[in-house]
Amino acid sequence: MIEDYYGQQANYEYMSASQLKQLLGTPGIQACEERALAELSGQYVRPQSNALTVGSYVDVMLTGTEDEQHEFRESHPEMISSRGPTKGQLKAEYRSADDMIARAFADADNGGIFMRALTGERQRVLTGEIHGHRFKARLDVLGDGFITDLKTVENVNKRYYNDGWWDFIGWWGYDLQGAIYQELVYQTTGNRWPFYIAALSKQTPCDIDLIQVPQDRLDEAMERVTPDALDRIAALKSGELEPTRCEHCDWCRMTKVIRKPRILEVV
Ligand SMILES: [Zn+2]
Repeated sequence: MIEDYYGQQANYEYMSASQLKQLLGTPGIQACEERALAELSGQYVRPQSNALTVGSYVDVMLTGTEDEQHEFRESHPEMISSRGPTKGQLKAEYRSADDMIARAFADADNGGIFMRALTGERQRVLTGEIHGHRFKARLDVLGDGFITDLKTVENVNKRYYNDGWWDFIGWWGYDLQGAIYQELVYQTTGNRWPFYIAALSKQTPCDIDLIQVPQDRLDEAMERVTPDALDRIAALKSGELEPTRCEHCDWCRMTKVIRKPRILEVV
């Protein structure tokens, strides 16, 4: 059992979907080995946007117990207004979170199945092995016969461009994440269950969607998780290999050293 799921020790001992997204990259995430390792060692901290806080707030309000909800509010005083007529309510920049929560409950009131896709074991930690390397995953929802990940997104229909057009699932590597989750669930239960994304948008009015990522998309994503790719990641984590730099990301911009002028290339 993993003592501290997000702790440094667990991150060195186990690979995870989020490590693969950073190290292999996705159409929307520039791969950078040096940044990923700097993050593991604690030298680099990814800038936290309030999008992340909104996501976990929506998650705990939709699926958490009353105690967990109370605890979350206590530990995020920055979200709650402390004075004026809105005292005790969410601050303006977080208010979209309440719209998303209301939208999900409205679906249930109207006979929709969105909330049912969030019913099951929550935050279940699974471990397993892929090509001889240990993996961990923490699932939003492990349902009876399905896996669901709750996402707060910009717009469920948005298409993104990078050498071709991508939906938000491919863009952010949620297909890769689903493939890893499905494999670890299979290794634990013997069942290969469908992977759903339960999405709420930050738009006004808020959009709601329940998307099954087709099995061929999950299989295709898993094809990138080759023995060679994982061996390389293991060697990087143990320090046997020097990480490469992407020279484009936040980390590479922060740590760049100018040793000679570059000749301007014709675009
Ligand atoms: Zn980089």
